[in-house]
Parts: sequence; structure tokens; C-alpha cells
Amino acid sequence: MATLEVKDLRIRYNRSGPSILKGISLSVDSGDFFAIIGPSGAGKSTLIRCINRLVEPTSGEVFLNGENITAMGARKLRMARRGMGMIFQEFNLVERMTVMDNVLSGRLGYLGTFKSFLRLYPKKDIRRALELLDRVGLSDFVDKRADELSGGQRQRVGIARALIQDPKILLVDEPTSSLDPKIAREVMAMIKVMSEELNVPVLCNIHDVQLALEFSNHVIGLQDGVKKFDGLTEQVDKGTLEEIYSMEIL
Ligand code: ADP
Repeated sequence: MATLEVKDLRIRYNRSGPSILKGISLSVDSGDFFAIIGPSGAGKSTLIRCINRLVEPTSGEVFLNGENITAMGARKLRMARRGMGMIFQEFNLVERMTVMDNVLSGRLGYLGTFKSFLRLYPKKDIRRALELLDRVGLSDFVDKRADELSGGQRQRVGIARALIQDPKILLVDEPTSSLDPKIAREVMAMIKVMSEELNVPVLCNIHDVQLALEFSNHVIGLQDGVKKFDGLTEQVDKGTLEEIYSMEIL
């Protein structure tokens, strides 16, 4: 069974508005690093957000380890979202909180209402947060406020926060757009290494084709809400890219 199975996903943001995803299907297995590429506005970010229902798809189905995410009510969805670690373009950290508290917030979904209100994390969560912060190279920054960190460091906090969830998959939305090229490559390498180490597959929206080809083993090419390519990264050639990006070239 695939870790993530997306079947014929469709969405319009408004009833009378344009179709943004026009029937997207894909299948991510354990060990995969999927890159979603395509022109700006193709629907890459929408696709990532429909998977954990940050955006509600109009139709289609999403299965995570065989469980139908799209059919879940609010309570089940909250539980299922623990299995989907998300890494964002703008990091989405709480700026005035420490690095440690930002990472620990990835465990909030596992605490009961009372404990989560008081942020009473068990010791094992604190140990795990320290381990992960060490692993992403931030052990000297544990007590710093998030807003004291550089962009690359902030994204590494975002990576640790996603991983402390014990996710079954990482959903990554333009993780490098706010970073300069050298740091962008380091962040991608960090996501890749950690995903391999913890055996968590990745689905990553990334408009930078060079980075996509460097770090993924599988590419989904989107254009105007339609899947133009779905295959191994090593199969992507000039013709493939021309097909995916044809609307930009014209
Ligand atoms: P990409 O990530 O490939 O750049 P997006 O998924 O961000 O593409 O956007 C795809 C299309 O959906 C764009 O035309 C965009 O304007 C539209 N869109 C994105 N978010 C919303 C929203 N919240 N409401 C209405 N339209 C949206």
C-alpha cells in the first residue's frame, strides 16, 4: 500500500470561479521524495494544502496509509493531521516564542485539551525536541526567540517542528523561496537527510527546477491544474520541462 494516495483531486475556490486542480492523482511510497514543479499559479501549493485539508477539495480522495482523509469528520481529521508534518515557505513560527517551544508545538496535537492549553509536555517530548534541535544544528539556540534567528535557522526549526510530530509524510510548501540560494540548498539537503534517516516520505512543492531535480527521486509536473508529467526524476529531460512550462514559454 502506498503511504499517500491522491485520487482525482479537484478544486474550485469559488463555485463560479475557475477550476484550479482538474483531477490530480498521484501515489507516494515509503522512501520517496516527490517534487511538484510547474509554472507559478499551476496549483502546486493548492495541491499540498488539499492533502491535509487546509484547503477543502471540491471532489476526489486522499488516503494516508489507507485511511480516507477526505471522508473524515473534524475530530478524526485532527488526529490524522498529526501524521502529516508540514513545512512552510514563511516558516510559520511563533516569533515571540523560543526555538524549543516552537518545536514542542509540533506535539500539541498529542496533548489533551487541558495539557495543551498549559503546554504541559511530557519529558519524552522535551528530550526528543532537544535531540531534533541537535540534529538540525540548533542546539546552541534552544532558548533563543524565533525572531532572533536567520531565515535558514528558522526553517530548520520548522523542519524539527514537523518531525517531532512523528509524521507518516512530510508536506513541504516552497521551503526555500524566502532563502538565498546557498541556504536554500542546505535546507533541502536537511529535509532530504532527515526524511531518509526517519524514513518519512516527502511531497514538496518547489518552483526551483534545479533544486527539484537535485533532491527528488520522482517529479510531478503541473500546468494549469493538470498533471503534465509523473515519473522518475532521472526521466525528466529538456522536452519534459518544455511541456510542463510551455505556457510560460509561449
Ligand atoms: P502555485 O503554487 O503553483 O503557484 P497556487 O496553488 O498558489 O499555485 O495557485 C493556483 C491558483 O489558485 C492561482 O490562480 C491562485 O490565484 C488561485 N488561488 C490560490 N489560493 C487561492 C484562494 N485562497 N482563493 C482563491 N484563489 C486562490
